[in-house]
Amino acid sequence: MVQSSILGFPRMGKLRDLKKATEAYWGDKLSREDLLAEGKRLRLEHWKIQKDAGVDIIPSNDFSYYDQVLDHIQMFGAVPERYTTHKLDTLDEYFAMGRGHQKDGVDVQSLEMVKWFDSNYHYVKPTLQDNQTFKLMDDPKAVRHFIEAKEAGITTRPVILGPVSFLHLGKADRKSNVDPITLLEKLLPVYEQLLKELKKAGAETVQIDEPVLVFDLPSKTRNAFKPAYEKLSALQGNEGPQLVLATYFGDIVHNFDVVDASLKNLYGLHVDLVRHPEQLGPVIEHLGPKQILSAGIVDGRNIWKNNMKKSVELIETAVQKLGKERVIVATSSSLLHTPHTLESEKNLDDEVRNWFAFAVEKATEVAILAKAVTEGPASVRSELEANEKSQQARATSKRTNNPDVKKRQESVTKQMHERKSAFDSRYAQQKEHLKLPIFPTTTIGSFPQTKDIRVHRNKLSKGEITPEEYEKFIEKEIRDNIAVQEELDLDVYVHGEPERNDMVQYFGERMDGYVFTTHAWVQSYGSRCVRPPIVVGDVSRPKPMTVKESKYAVSVSKKPMKGMLTGPITCLRWSFPRDDVHQSVQAQQLALALRDEVVDLEEAGVLVIQVDEPALREGLPLRSGAEREKYLDWAVDSFKLSTAGVKDSTQIHSHFCYSEFQDFFHAIAALDADVLSIENSKSDAKLLKVFIDESYPRHIGPGVYDIHSPRVPSEQEIKDRIEEMLQYLKPEQLWINPDCGLKTRQWKETKEALSNMVNAAQYYRQKQ
Ligand code: GLN
Ligand code: ZN
Repeated sequence: MVQSSILGFPRMGKLRDLKKATEAYWGDKLSREDLLAEGKRLRLEHWKIQKDAGVDIIPSNDFSYYDQVLDHIQMFGAVPERYTTHKLDTLDEYFAMGRGHQKDGVDVQSLEMVKWFDSNYHYVKPTLQDNQTFKLMDDPKAVRHFIEAKEAGITTRPVILGPVSFLHLGKADRKSNVDPITLLEKLLPVYEQLLKELKKAGAETVQIDEPVLVFDLPSKTRNAFKPAYEKLSALQGNEGPQLVLATYFGDIVHNFDVVDASLKNLYGLHVDLVRHPEQLGPVIEHLGPKQILSAGIVDGRNIWKNNMKKSVELIETAVQKLGKERVIVATSSSLLHTPHTLESEKNLDDEVRNWFAFAVEKATEVAILAKAVTEGPASVRSELEANEKSQQARATSKRTNNPDVKKRQESVTKQMHERKSAFDSRYAQQKEHLKLPIFPTTTIGSFPQTKDIRVHRNKLSKGEITPEEYEKFIEKEIRDNIAVQEELDLDVYVHGEPERNDMVQYFGERMDGYVFTTHAWVQSYGSRCVRPPIVVGDVSRPKPMTVKESKYAVSVSKKPMKGMLTGPITCLRWSFPRDDVHQSVQAQQLALALRDEVVDLEEAGVLVIQVDEPALREGLPLRSGAEREKYLDWAVDSFKLSTAGVKDSTQIHSHFCYSEFQDFFHAIAALDADVLSIENSKSDAKLLKVFIDESYPRHIGPGVYDIHSPRVPSEQEIKDRIEEMLQYLKPEQLWINPDCGLKTRQWKETKEALSNMVNAAQYYRQKQ
């Protein structure tokens, strides 16, 4: 029979129970035992959900108190010494690596955390030493959880991160030079031991994740697969479990030589057919004669109902070639990236609710699909019919299709993407209008979001104050923000974004084509979750979104005021996008909505407009080459379309929260923004060299201090930073600003830091 399988389940629980428990534990409000008991309760609940849904292959060891890669770091005894010397208890040592530890005289920073492939999930980087050793911890978590499930009557398939990915995703510790992949030989015995222990505990198969196979890999990493998997597959069937090697988020076609040379003896291979359905044929060709195919066709990264008719057809093609015993129907990746259950959404209208499937609902989907192929469509007729109906309803809904938006997209011309004149002549006009000094100072947009702001927002949503009262309150906040900037003597003001809860949701709520959830949280890192809005249909702007606040701000300030918008790519990336039209189409719709906003702001007298695109880089396809270039083309186009409607004299800014764009600099340059503000205080100033190397003509504000910490940088520190920047940028190009918005900061440190920043700028101004 065709079996159904899930690669991983979200851990937080229906009501973010795990977040609440871990945060309570960190705040000394919950005991260690109670936290562990809550973890156990959640694991059992999640296994049971999957079992009850009829899923055949249920994962274990996918649960984590912080991050699954961090679990492996601890399980393999790869904990850096600075954490072990304090003799913390195992759980506290674990959290110390995840989030730092500052308690009872111990003060140690966390390990580095970075984005997991192209998702918004962050993993903790294995940080390895020159003399690194590995040792499987006693009673390893993967084995413990397998037994826990077994005792509850559920046989699971443990998930472990494979050795090549573990090392490739790691890095050398500060004082070490080790190339992680060279540690493979030392690491493999730990995997052998773990697999043997799993087998002893009763695990017949294990899912071993090697997602790095979707990257373009350096040859050292490619060559590591053979020795690794010769060893591990040799254990299969006798001392060790059968291994299903899982890849996701991309295709593995370009790494087939690795598959052929080293993965043939593995029991099975999982591929992501949501992202790359076209790899199905070639993958089948490359399977060994007995190898199982795990076909990832239920989307682990999005919230749309599966198109079952299409899925059944796809699985049928595999079954025809391989037979029912050799095909598994699976989620494309772990369901970690989807919210828990649709059940919790009480405010969604029935029309759109019927289009979604969250993790719990996806569990049912894989089970139905497997049954449809095993026993024939008649066995699940009513489910398939209901699914077909929902697909059709969505395809033909007015919510999805807005003919006006389509018409407008058809009329977009090349010319609409270009500013009227080249930068030099625009700049001359902007100079005259704005009358800015050399080394102009500004901030990135938000000012501290105080308790008072949250209280008012809450009161408004509960109806305890009227919209008019709220508006008055926001106006007062704007005036206060401007007074502070006047006092500090900044050059380009912002209104401070007090009215915005979130930089994407705020815009989503003001556009047609979006819906919002109340409980659809997705883990971002550790206990932190985000609740992305959902793009359900063609997007448009029914009326101005930010003009009122910006116009008010202009009316009460004596210096230029910068209007603040979230760019099309960021609006798209930090939402759940549609899966029925290409993302480039959605980005263009967002761009047109924003274009109207930009023009309206200009008309309202806002002569500096910043369009933030912090998510531009995370959307980069995982492999370089044609796919990446295509993405950059439409991403850049959408930014240009949103900003190019203004007069030459209006100054367009953009902001990114990073400064590493060496490998796609051409795209950054192509945005044609008059001023770019970027992160730089935590990065090497040398990264700015690319601007001279490429003779970048426009203006740049590399952040002069880090806003993620309450620490106040001294005036001298900022001067030193500016001095360094001036090695790479011309004085007339340089703006002086912080790394990012100040919404998470307190007022006291904000004022002190900005005051030092302004003084440092004035020092250089006088030196000129
Ligand atoms: N304008 C936004 C702010 O200042 C930018 C935030 C961001 O780049 N993430 O908050
Ligand atoms: Zn930023």
